Amino acid sequence: MTELRLYNTLTRRKERFEPLDGKLARVYSCGPTVYARQHLGNLRAYLFADLLKRVLRYNGYGVRHVINITDVGHLTDDADLGEDKMEVAARKEGLSAWEIAEKWTLVFKQDLEKLNILSPDVWCKATDHIPEQIQLVQSLEQKGFTYRIDDGIYFDTSKDAHYGELARVNLEAQQAQERIEGASAKRSPADFALWKLSSREGARRQMEWDSPWGRGFPGWHLECSAMSSKYLGTPFDIHTGGDDHIPVHHTNEIAQAENAFDVRPWVRFWMHGAWLMFERGKMAKSKGTVVSLDGLEAQGIDPLGYRFFVLGAHYRQQLNFTDEALERAQTAYARLVRHAVELRQAEESADADQVGDFRARFRDVINDDLNAPQALAVVWEVVRSPALGGAEKWALLSEFDEVLGLGLSEARIEAPELDARVEGLIREREAARLARDFERADQIRSQLAAEGVILEDTAQGTRWRRA
Ligand SMILES: [Zn+2]
Repeated sequence: MTELRLYNTLTRRKERFEPLDGKLARVYSCGPTVYARQHLGNLRAYLFADLLKRVLRYNGYGVRHVINITDVGHLTDDADLGEDKMEVAARKEGLSAWEIAEKWTLVFKQDLEKLNILSPDVWCKATDHIPEQIQLVQSLEQKGFTYRIDDGIYFDTSKDAHYGELARVNLEAQQAQERIEGASAKRSPADFALWKLSSREGARRQMEWDSPWGRGFPGWHLECSAMSSKYLGTPFDIHTGGDDHIPVHHTNEIAQAENAFDVRPWVRFWMHGAWLMFERGKMAKSKGTVVSLDGLEAQGIDPLGYRFFVLGAHYRQQLNFTDEALERAQTAYARLVRHAVELRQAEESADADQVGDFRARFRDVINDDLNAPQALAVVWEVVRSPALGGAEKWALLSEFDEVLGLGLSEARIEAPELDARVEGLIREREAARLARDFERADQIRSQLAAEGVILEDTAQGTRWRRA
């Protein structure tokens, strides 16, 4: 049986993976900053984490998965300047920062559900973990890793001999750059805020807390170090995120956690997904609407068609988003679903040896750093194989789909045929409810009921079925 090998950003190579305790893989994924709807590129990161989780299970491991919700402290400028994104959005939308967080967290979770992404074992919010974050800063302070300037408490990167190893950051080059660009109150440009103090004059923040250093709010990187360690213990197995997190966010998470908890390495595997690239011209063509899952659905693209599209590229490869590529993926996905529907009824079986061969090949490629494009190629070979009977094909497809999550089994079988009108009305009803227009929401429910469509409101959003 092929062993599972994963690319570890820390060592820049594929390594054999096995949970530290041999049984349970403990995984943390950096979650969204909930000041707006997550665009399709953000969602790609969670499709990658979901694939990882499913492959770990496929290998017989238990998985404990944590995703955080950043609802405070993420500034508009990564260099600890600028405004809190939550407060900016609150002002723009005329809601409180807390309402903004609640609204976009709900939409995010609905999007994950549509993409057939398995719920994590733990959702945790930064604002629910202020004491844990303060404690972490206190621990760093006691060990001499912090200093105070006007606007907050900062981590002194010069005290950490291992700082920047993940990103292979060259601190001296950065400092030289800083000398060219001019002085900042920070001792080094790499130093980062642990606790930002509310300014004494000026507008009061909506989100701020008392601390040993004064009223303020946690730096963005702090929550991930504090919450991952709280829910997974230290050290833990895998930390995921987008590759844009490597130089600053993850580098700083490591510096905080390794020094506060005296553990190195704090995380055994760091895994990073590549970006989704948008071509300006193409986006104009689709009038800029196709950046969210809603936009896709309005264009008749099934969310699982988008999942299929994303699986068509290795998670470490940049993926170009174009209307043409997406439509091709949707067409191929619809074809696969049609095969699945047909094969589910099949009864004839033929060559049992071939079944084992296909299973081994699928495992080979998916265990080679989650090679989804090649796994999809094996799926198509199974569908087309003249040697296999229909029953065997379906047995293999449903097994592979535990990993790929394309909803080929009963639950989402009708997905590509979804009635766009019903979906549109459900979206309108959700919008009405968010706007507290319950009359309109009820009207839509009755209208659909009259047409024989039953709505079910769940924690993950509204589902529908025909009566
Ligand atoms: Zn994070």
